[in-house]
Amino acid sequence: MTESTSVMWFRDDLRVRDNPALRAAAEHGGPIVCLYVLDDESPGVRPLGGASRWWLHGSLTALAAELGEIGLSLTLRRGPAAEVVRAVVDETDAAAVFWNRRYGEAERAIDTDLKSFLKDERGLDVRSFQANLLAEPWTVQTGQGGWYKVFTPFYRAVTSLPEPRHPLPEPGDEDSPALHHRRLPSDELDSWGLLPMHPDWAAGLRDRWTPGSAGAHERLDAFVHGGVGAYPDEHDLPAEDGTSSLSPHLRFGEISPFEVWHAVERRRARAPKDAAGASAFLRQIVWREFAYHLLYHLPSLGTKNMREEFDRFPWEEPEAAELEAWQQGRTGIPLVDAGMRELWTTGVMHNRVRMVVASFLVKNMRVDWRVGERWFWDTLVDADPASNALNWQWVAGSGPDAAPYFRVFNPELQASKFDPHGEYLRRWVPELGTDAYPEPMLDLKESRKAALEAYATIR
Ligand SMILES: Cc1cc2nc3c(=O)[nH]c(=O)nc-3n(C[C@H](O)[C@H](O)[C@H](O)COP(=O)(O)OP(=O)(O)OC[C@H]3O[C@@H](n4cnc5c(N)ncnc54)[C@H](O)[C@@H]3O)c2cc1C
Repeated sequence: MTESTSVMWFRDDLRVRDNPALRAAAEHGGPIVCLYVLDDESPGVRPLGGASRWWLHGSLTALAAELGEIGLSLTLRRGPAAEVVRAVVDETDAAAVFWNRRYGEAERAIDTDLKSFLKDERGLDVRSFQANLLAEPWTVQTGQGGWYKVFTPFYRAVTSLPEPRHPLPEPGDEDSPALHHRRLPSDELDSWGLLPMHPDWAAGLRDRWTPGSAGAHERLDAFVHGGVGAYPDEHDLPAEDGTSSLSPHLRFGEISPFEVWHAVERRRARAPKDAAGASAFLRQIVWREFAYHLLYHLPSLGTKNMREEFDRFPWEEPEAAELEAWQQGRTGIPLVDAGMRELWTTGVMHNRVRMVVASFLVKNMRVDWRVGERWFWDTLVDADPASNALNWQWVAGSGPDAAPYFRVFNPELQASKFDPHGEYLRRWVPELGTDAYPEPMLDLKESRKAALEAYATIR
């Protein structure tokens, strides 16, 4: 126990429950400064896209309220993160700094340098924790001691590890020491300009989402008790509410994978009829782990083809109007347009349709996958440096364990298979079948043939 101040630096872990770093700050005993830094300046740190900035505003509002309930307050600062944290340490004469780990290369470099400066030169107690992944990327190793490039053996390796730890209670419960907060001058959240103003394009996001831990737990409960059993049958049907919709909550760490894992396992134990659904769903949670495993071992996942032959691929430079037609859902290909409009309106798109629109861009339009990755980065509320990059490379065929390039999704067949009654199409493309709907911008058969010919040049 001490009276000295500790700093709890929040990053991709905007929650109070199951937050090991916050728990450590509480156990440290003195006043706690809860800090969030908006860092658009550190070299290599990718600024958040528009939809993610919208989400962040809501998430920080919710976090501040949750912290308030346990007697803590949130300090907001803006600038290069390492400088800001050092300034806060000086300002408060803090003796300890705690955070939960993150996995991008630039972010890790910042954390490592900061840790050695504060620990070795200043003598502070600085500790980082595992909070956002079930298995740290360096702990899952192949028989030869390397890292996994293929999902199925990775999945086997992760699921044969000891059971993930149980979620931690929130600090401030009866077992934890009393909490003391230390209030510092803080930026006004509104001054960060995270919300769109002119124009305000976020109405659909507001209708669809409640950022914050409470919203995350409501979704988890509803899904675990209502949807997980039907997951194998319904998760691929875009017209249904057949998936968990947890991705943005996981992205911002409003809920932890440990909480998700154990909620699903409890359901499996109580309702054996849901066992197959539980397994299918947790397999997707492991895809998220795989994405971070790859990002950690291959920091260029979002910028470079994993398969080098794709460096020679003859991508087309799209005309601005063609790219806009894809972005705005005016290609004349109904499933592609439905998906792109869902994305623009709600900040997410059903996974099946993400694959279709990505295949259309990369194969039928022959546009470099990085162009699509950037659009998703800007428009998805769950835009994630690992999952977005992995999935774009997967669809393009340039990535690890990828769909082969010659597998070109046919949007018409995909629609008839996964949206057999056309419900999803009518929801997002109500003018379908009228003169108001555009003619197809390209011929699916011809463009598929051209894509395969282009691919033949790099094989
Ligand atoms: C081109 C493309 C880009 C994508 N970009 C992202 C992204 O930026 N962020 C993101 O979280 N997901 C991304 N995905 C994966 C997937 O589409 C979303 O995770 C999923 O649609 C989210 O909905 P849900 O939470 O209802 O998923 P559920 O089906 O309920 O799955 C539960 C969780 O598992 C994880 N998960 C599911 N599928 C995948 C997957 N294929 N890869 C990695 N994790 C997965 C997510 O965390 C998800 O919340 C992308 C997929 C494609 C094809």
